[in-house]
Amino acid sequence: MTVSEPKCLYCDQTSQQIPLISLRYQDREYWICPEHLPVMIHKPEQLVDKLPGFTPSGTPVQSQHE
Ligand SMILES: [Zn+2]
Repeated sequence: MTVSEPKCLYCDQTSQQIPLISLRYQDREYWICPEHLPVMIHKPEQLVDKLPGFTPSGTPVQSQHE
């Protein structure tokens, strides 16, 4: 059994490696490191893949292939 260890949702660093900030979204808990908190603030669309169901305002709701 794997216990889900807190780790940055962006870079996967754990709280053993870097201080993590906890987030709550739709009753689930996520963690992000200070290095990537600005991503959430300024580039939330980059977190759409990381947070299931997350659609930041301003992001066109359509699937695109890059
Ligand atoms: Zn990070």
